[in-house]
Amino acid sequence: MIQSSVEFFKNLPPKQCTECGKKIEEQHECYGNHCDHCLSGE
Ligand SMILES: [Zn+2]
Repeated sequence: MIQSSVEFFKNLPPKQCTECGKKIEEQHECYGNHCDHCLSGE
């Protein structure tokens, strides 16, 4: 169990898409501030 890593992400605010305002579940940094829907619609 890596609790320290879990607590680190729990302290982070939820990501939100800058296009539609949808909450981004993914933690991938490459996604930036856009959800998967807005990325595919580009
Ligand atoms: Zn979006």
